[in-house]
Amino acid sequence: MTGVISLLPEGWPGLLTPPPGTHRDPSTRTSYEPGGSCGCRDQGGRADGSYDSYNSYDPYNSYGSYGSYGSYGSYEHVSRYTAVGGYAPVAAPDALLDRIAAAGLRGRGGAGFPAAVKLRAVRDAPGVPVVVANGEEGEPGSVKDRWLLRHRPHLVLDGLRLAAAMTGAGRACVYLSDASAERAVRHALAEWPHDDGPRVDVVRTAPSYVAGEESAVVRRIDGGPALPTAKPPRPFERGVGGAPTLVANVETLARVALLHAWPDAATQVTGAHLVTLSGSHGRPALVEVAAGTRLGALAAACGHGEAAAVLLGGLFGGLHGAGWTGLPLDHEGLRAAGGALGCGALHFLRPEDCPVGVAAEATAYLAAQSARQCGVCVSGTGALSGALSAVTRGTADPDTPQKLLRWARQLPGRGACGLLDAAARITASLLDHFPGRLDEHGSRGCPRCAGPAAADGLRFSVTVP
Ligand code: SF4
Repeated sequence: MTGVISLLPEGWPGLLTPPPGTHRDPSTRTSYEPGGSCGCRDQGGRADGSYDSYNSYDPYNSYGSYGSYGSYGSYEHVSRYTAVGGYAPVAAPDALLDRIAAAGLRGRGGAGFPAAVKLRAVRDAPGVPVVVANGEEGEPGSVKDRWLLRHRPHLVLDGLRLAAAMTGAGRACVYLSDASAERAVRHALAEWPHDDGPRVDVVRTAPSYVAGEESAVVRRIDGGPALPTAKPPRPFERGVGGAPTLVANVETLARVALLHAWPDAATQVTGAHLVTLSGSHGRPALVEVAAGTRLGALAAACGHGEAAAVLLGGLFGGLHGAGWTGLPLDHEGLRAAGGALGCGALHFLRPEDCPVGVAAEATAYLAAQSARQCGVCVSGTGALSGALSAVTRGTADPDTPQKLLRWARQLPGRGACGLLDAAARITASLLDHFPGRLDEHGSRGCPRCAGPAAADGLRFSVTVP
């Protein structure tokens, strides 16, 4: 069972918990609040010490009925959402966009691009824009977007409505692959009149590592395969149906909705991150945490305190060993350390886990997920995966470390999407942060990871709580 944990300071509006002070009246209970009490850590709760199940989360206890979406028993109801300020009229879209810029909100899909810059680029491009809520999280170790769509569909749809208002969009889409998320979104659309915004379509795709890349999103919505295209043009220039298109991650849109409803809490709204934690020990967890939190403290708080290393960003931020516990959870700090926050998925390694084996599995997975459109991606991911797998078996040539170093430096930026970059970064980080571990394998291989590297990504995948 996966945990859902808020580590936000008291009083911060979060995505895993309702806004403070708005959930204590039992008369506001609706179908997604089955009720009950528990001994969970919590920011809210009633005077008698019991807790509303909305924020009944605990890293080590069952998440209970809140996690069982299937019966429509666990997600927000429109009346509850509007009661706490959701779907409020957009009085001044430009002022909201200025607020987003001033707050410094960055996209939460992986690149961390400033949200206001993207919104303005779409608004100012010629044509009537399209806005897309991108809920296809291709990183196997991330669950935050599917969780938001399953449990907070109105929050995401409100953010999409606000993005449409700020850009002047004439069409909106929710793009996803998760069947439970689709049911939640369609149910939310049916109970929300949304008569002050554009029509909202739901577009389903098959899950894959590249299906959520923004040009793949556009291609799929236009009826093609969910595969990346060469850029330029980028979607903000020419996207769905040729119109300027905003492809926004669902957590980004959820934070836009919070910024609209809670203007006085802009610093807290943008200063929090949803992260997915997993590893070969400790339970997986979806966590909301303040930016800047040290990774070691985060791991310790969530049952991964024995970790010896971490793979950052999903598969995009590389492996980090000695000193990783002191790294701050933010884009700048991780970039300075040669890593990347990506979509916020962190996979912890135990002392007995072999980083070479982990890198071999990650690159094998990426090679299997290559859309096979770019020759350099097919040959590059295959070469990296093959060489690392040979190291684990003790069959690598003596010059393999030099070859890996050369490829890791030459390959980034040469594919049409970030998949090849991820494979190169993992390899480079293995060489940078674990010097000597390849040589240690010598001709004997590794008793822990020898054999064909699994290409299914299961080591990194997490079940949505
Ligand atoms: S870099 Fe790889 S995954 Fe990305 S578009 Fe090219 S072939 Fe496909």
